[in-house]
Amino acid sequence: MLVTYYGRTVLSRGPAKKQIDASPCRQYIAGTGSMDTILLQEAIMPAIIEIIRGDITRLAVDAIVNAANNTLLGGGGVDGAIHRAAGPELLRECAALGGCTTGDAKITKGYRLAARYVIHTVGPVWQDGHHGEPDLLRSCYRRCFEVAREHGVSSIAFPAISCGVYGYPLREGALLALTTAQEAAGSGDFSRILLVQFNEQAQQVYREAAQQLQLPVTVR
Ligand code: ADP
Repeated sequence: MLVTYYGRTVLSRGPAKKQIDASPCRQYIAGTGSMDTILLQEAIMPAIIEIIRGDITRLAVDAIVNAANNTLLGGGGVDGAIHRAAGPELLRECAALGGCTTGDAKITKGYRLAARYVIHTVGPVWQDGHHGEPDLLRSCYRRCFEVAREHGVSSIAFPAISCGVYGYPLREGALLALTTAQEAAGSGDFSRILLVQFNEQAQQVYREAAQQLQLPVTVR
């Protein structure tokens, strides 16, 4: 098994090897620290935050987050994909929720999805960064974690909220997603926090943001 650290690839060794071999992914600790730190960290505390590439609608986690719009009546992008995969029952439940304000989050069942719940949140539309966008996006992530806690959600997957049609710069969005995920990871209430990217370039932006913040994350 290989451990990637600061762009260097080194062979794992020592007592942590078994733990590392059990994991099918690369463990990646951004920032400073020794090889021993990495092995110790992996042995005692595997990274809770995962930066993964894939389709969020296919994930078997307790809850997936939807980057919805204020109506909660479906739309394009990840919203459309989630509604298509969950089936028409999702739209029926959403229609009874009375919409959602920007920065807030509401929960529904997951219906035909592998995920038990969908947490719908409405991110800000990017204007120039001086119209409260960062506070609103931070609020989205925090409200999703709050709602998740209230429903006993332990594993949760997020798309890059607002970073598609709503135009939020991906790098800034990634830094915010990672910071709030780290807060939630510190609470001890979550076993896995997945930050899901559709393509490799977006995943790379998340990796670099994790490196900048020196956060321990798993990348796969
Ligand atoms: P918003 O309107 O909040 O910007 P979008 O759906 O347009 O929401 O995009 C949010 C992010 O979700 C974008 O980075 C987009 O590439 C990504 N995305 C779209 N579909 C999926 C999917 N099926 N799984 C994971 N991410 C997705």
